[in-house]
Parts: sequence; C-alpha cells; structure tokens
Amino acid sequence: MSTPTSTKTVPEHPCLECQDLEHGIEQAEAERDLSRVTDFNVLIARHRRAHEAQL
Ligand SMILES: [Zn+2]
Repeated sequence: MSTPTSTKTVPEHPCLECQDLEHGIEQAEAERDLSRVTDFNVLIARHRRAHEAQL
C-alpha cells in the first residue's frame, strides 16, 4: 500500500470501492433516481470517513 499524498484533492481514485460508488452515483444521476443518489451520497460520505480514519 502506498502512502497517500497530503493534497486536498485526490487526483486518482484511492480505491476500487470509491470508483464503484462514484460510478454508481453517476448512473443513478443519469437515471434521475434521486433516492439512489441519496443512498450513494450516504455511502460515499461514510466510506470517505473510513479512509480519513485510516490516515
Ligand atoms: Zn475508497
């Protein structure tokens, strides 16, 4: 595992789950499925917090 850089914006997706969630939210937005967008926002926020806890 490589150590993440201390930049505020992450140039690359740090992990597969992030990619998966972002792909999912894009798809939900494309389908205008707002309840799914909300679900993904919650999942992404929770997942990102897990990343921060690991730093
Ligand atoms: Zn992630």
